[in-house]
Amino acid sequence: MICCNCLKESPTQFAFFELFTIRNKPPFQLCSSCQKKFTEIPQPRCPGCARSQTTKEICSDCLKWQTVYSQKVPHEAFFMYDADFSEWMEQFKFKGAYHYRFALTEMLAGKITIPKNHLLVPIPLSRQRYESRGFNQVTAVLESAKFAYTPLLNRKVDFTAQSFQKKKERMNLPQVFEVNEKFANSSQKIILIDDVYTTGTTLVRAQQACEGQNLKVVKTLSFAR
Ligand SMILES: [Zn+2]
Ligand SMILES: [Zn+2]
Repeated sequence: MICCNCLKESPTQFAFFELFTIRNKPPFQLCSSCQKKFTEIPQPRCPGCARSQTTKEICSDCLKWQTVYSQKVPHEAFFMYDADFSEWMEQFKFKGAYHYRFALTEMLAGKITIPKNHLLVPIPLSRQRYESRGFNQVTAVLESAKFAYTPLLNRKVDFTAQSFQKKKERMNLPQVFEVNEKFANSSQKIILIDDVYTTGTTLVRAQQACEGQNLKVVKTLSFAR
């Protein structure tokens, strides 16, 4: 097989039963060394931000969010945002490795479920960022995984992590999201999805923009945390 991430060929070994189910194999395959770049977040996790910790209680950062802003909705994340993932993301987002979307598609298979009557809403890039990168890393993965999503939010400006390095500064950023007019006051149930959860600021801001237009955010997701 050819690995969809590193594009190297490695010998394919099929188990006996797979000889009969080969047609159902996912279209994207990852070699074992690329699979190791994705480490699942160990349980138990904070229900508010998916941080791995020793209890199932909400963590102190999430409690802080609740005092500063409205109720923080549950957050679900899948992989550790560790050195491996961050290096992989760097290649994907900033070095133009657009084919890397297949690796996440493969690793996320079966992990995301969207209940009926809920809209999956990706965090958008600003127009300038989108034009310089050429793609949105979240929608690129959703498209290759064949997930229907709704581009319900616009991003007015981008504040980069580099320009707001301190956590406190990032928590105090102004609103950068707005809801597309045609969805305003539609009372839709929303699940927001971003690539990485760091301070939670981006998703909280997006949640606030939705709630300001009478949309109900029930949950947020990120590929990594
Ligand atoms: Zn590989
Ligand atoms: Zn938390």
